[in-house]
Amino acid sequence: MAMRIILIGPPGSGKGTQATSIREKHPIAHISTGDILRENVRAGTELGQTAKRFMDAGQLVHDNLIIAMMRARLAEDDAQNGFILDGFPRNVSQADALSSLLDGMSLRLDAAVLLEISDETVVRRLTCRRVCSSCGSIYNALSHPPKARGVCDSCGGRVVQRADDQESVIRNRLAVYHKETAPLVEYYESRGMLRRVPADGESNAALKYLESLRASGK
Ligand code: AMP
Repeated sequence: MAMRIILIGPPGSGKGTQATSIREKHPIAHISTGDILRENVRAGTELGQTAKRFMDAGQLVHDNLIIAMMRARLAEDDAQNGFILDGFPRNVSQADALSSLLDGMSLRLDAAVLLEISDETVVRRLTCRRVCSSCGSIYNALSHPPKARGVCDSCGGRVVQRADDQESVIRNRLAVYHKETAPLVEYYESRGMLRRVPADGESNAALKYLESLRASGK
């Protein structure tokens, strides 16, 4: 299945987890702008230094930086067989930029998958989220803690709470989502590309949905 999809959903709707389950079945690139930015912060690049204060405050990083980053990323070899975009586009001007980038490559998006979840479920989930500071593996302090406290099961790295997973920052990220990103629902719906998937259940709901679409030939 040549798949070019974007995942839309508030922080904590499980975009990364759903993308991983799709990626396990289909060899396409999983491109998370949040992950690329965090790698830049860790590596201390100029982009990382600029992005960090916006990220820590739960604000969006400037469109021109993000779009340049995505132009370069989509040109890489592993993105040529398809991709899942996780965390991009984040507003209408990024969606327009993506559309022109893809037009320039003679490619088109197959679907925009909306992960639907309530704000309160997001807050409950994210305050419990823990991540490995080395490999990015995701844990939950209550339902899926690492076997040894604070130590990643996969790589032995340090498992921490992201600075932007504190409740006050989460509330801010949700407000940014409703103001900036939620208009993408109408944007992709009016183009006939929106697919709604409940995000409070299985971690492979998006994969199952995409496979059912393929099976029905839609
Ligand atoms: P995420 O891991 O997707 O929740 O992203 C973490 C943070 O990175 C966000 O709160 C933003 O500060 C920044 N970020 C990620 N993707 C974008 C984007 N497409 N546009 C602007 N900022 C972004």
